[in-house]
Amino acid sequence: MSMADPITTELHFPFPDAPAPGQLFEVSDGLYWLRMPLPIRLNHINLWLMEGESGFSIVDTGWATDENIAIWERVAAERFVSKPVREIVVTHMHPDHIGLAGWLSKVHDVELFMSRAEYLNCHLLLSYTHEDAPEEATGFYQAIGYSEAQLHNYQAHFGKFGQFVRSLPHAYHRLKEGDEVLLGDRRWQVIIGEGHSPEHVCLYSPEHRLLISGDQLLPSISSNTSVWPSEPHANPLEEWLASCRKLSRLIPDDVLVLPAHGLPFRGARVRLEQQMREIEENLEQLLTFCDKPRRVVDTFPVLFRSEITNSNLMMAAGEGLAHLHCLQARGRVQVEYRDGVGYWQRIS
Ligand SMILES: [Zn+2]
Repeated sequence: MSMADPITTELHFPFPDAPAPGQLFEVSDGLYWLRMPLPIRLNHINLWLMEGESGFSIVDTGWATDENIAIWERVAAERFVSKPVREIVVTHMHPDHIGLAGWLSKVHDVELFMSRAEYLNCHLLLSYTHEDAPEEATGFYQAIGYSEAQLHNYQAHFGKFGQFVRSLPHAYHRLKEGDEVLLGDRRWQVIIGEGHSPEHVCLYSPEHRLLISGDQLLPSISSNTSVWPSEPHANPLEEWLASCRKLSRLIPDDVLVLPAHGLPFRGARVRLEQQMREIEENLEQLLTFCDKPRRVVDTFPVLFRSEITNSNLMMAAGEGLAHLHCLQARGRVQVEYRDGVGYWQRIS
């Protein structure tokens, strides 16, 4: 496929076989794909290593497990002896991306590059370790329609983020929209996405037709867009849609997208259009369902194909509420609270 190709109508996967966990695969000159296992249903994450004249840049770091630390130690013994690590970049604060960032930056004595909102939010979540769930948070999930048992389960698991994420350094190197950074001898533009996490960093090299997209653009699964108790009035779905439109303007279909999950692909605009269409269809179905007053927990069968259990309840709740907030901001639904529980209904 060349830059002169006509409009693409489907995705292209130039590397159909992912490397085995812990193995490096060179996708472009000096740019390596490193897969790490994940101890959750989504069983892998893609990390990126960039080799330059003077050393390596690392993008994303893996969940904080002994298995992943062993992988990093082996990669270091094979690669970082002759060329040191120059910096660590983290796209966003979710444990699979930031888990070992603090550990790696300490071991290699290098700076951590992140956006400000991701850095501060990660510190906030780490500060909850060993704390009880605050009233604001239990009230939030009560309003969503959690049962007593579900509320207890939430409280019992509160503050677990610190089990998956090593502590962060107390200083960082800020990345923001429009910045240019030199990583592995390539110049990358920072593009910020919103909706999945507060200030998600994507790295774009127009010259080399490459985009490291993190979770902001994935080929097959859709990223979670949730409202969280710390910002209960947020409208992350509309922010996500705005970010999709922005990426669609900026990233041509011939760019090789390097996502955090799934396979590298070409066809960014095709995928973004698909996602935006699916979201709008889901919103329409939800609106029809809200003919009668509905709690957030009632909306799950409309929005999700998979069964909702304790392990994915919080994501489903946040995402269900995100859809309702989006419809509310567009003037299509209203909410009424009865005994602390929100009931959402279509405005006729
Ligand atoms: Zn994520």
